[in-house]
Amino acid sequence: QVKRNGKNGYQYYTSQLHAQLQEKIELEIDLRQALPLGQLYLDYQPQVRAGDDQIIGVEALVRWKHHTRGILSPGVFIPIAEETGMIYEVGTWVLREACRQMKAWHDAGGPLITVSVNLSSQQFHQSNLTAHIQGILEETGLEAKYLELEITESMMMDANVSGGILNELAASGIRISLDDFGTGYSSLSYLKLLPIHKLKIDRSFIRDITVNKNDKAIVATIISMAQHLNMDVIAEGIETKEQLDILVDNDCSKIQGYYYSRPLPAGEMEASFFKEAKVGSGIGLE
Ligand code: C2E
Ligand code: MG
Ligand code: MG
Ligand code: MG
Repeated sequence: QVKRNGKNGYQYYTSQLHAQLQEKIELEIDLRQALPLGQLYLDYQPQVRAGDDQIIGVEALVRWKHHTRGILSPGVFIPIAEETGMIYEVGTWVLREACRQMKAWHDAGGPLITVSVNLSSQQFHQSNLTAHIQGILEETGLEAKYLELEITESMMMDANVSGGILNELAASGIRISLDDFGTGYSSLSYLKLLPIHKLKIDRSFIRDITVNKNDKAIVATIISMAQHLNMDVIAEGIETKEQLDILVDNDCSKIQGYYYSRPLPAGEMEASFFKEAKVGSGIGLE
């Protein structure tokens, strides 16, 4: 809260700003060491088919185990990684680790499911992105069809540029999912022009879907549009049975959210989901 009541208010403001800046600089310095020190790791959140509760994929979500601050979420440090250019290194590590882990799960007899990896805009525009990712796939042994990249609508803003990148990625067999769909500014015409395999309905439309008719209408429309465009659709942020029922009623059976499971470290993921091929409703909610 900024109070402009004379000298004291001003001092309060600058000291706040100073503290924030100080913290950011500290995080920036620490982040440079995070990878070499092995402080980054991935959690995995299941994507489940509602009809039979079968796991169909996982999303890899990066975390940072900071030596004094505890576990930091990507919302805290990904922006810093982007501002400082460290995102290339971090993003490469995430891709390699996600592919390595999924290949290991496949090899161990786990279900042949996909792993979804979030790409930041800078990574998306990185030169030789496709070759870079193909290199990682080769190195880890994961087949391209088991990797799904999550991008956001804003990355498609320049269709000339994004079209080239997306066509290249798609031609190599990698799947593309539009994350947080409905919150960005993408032109709907891009959806038919570009090789997008999946729409991921943003959590903000799900939160109040049981009481908000507009949210329900938007979600139903996205689902129907995806079907007409022959795309996959998945809803994220499903927390309750009531929300789940509305999605299923509207013909969206692919679900990601706390209702099925929070994001889990690899070990817990195995224990909960890969012991048997089926998962139970509500696992991980307790
Ligand atoms: P996202 O890709 O939209 O990921 C979904 C976020 O929603 C995750 O937060 C997940 O923990 C959370 N979530 C899942 N189900 C539920 C639910 O039922 N209720 C609620 N309230 N939340 C749910 P997280 O892990 O904090 O990640 C936040 C964002 O950080 C991600 O949003 C993604 O944009 C970004 N991110 C995560 N990992 C990476 C990464 O490796 N690289 C890049 N560039 N960005 C990443
Ligand atoms: Mg995502
Ligand atoms: Mg999302
Ligand atoms: Mg997001």
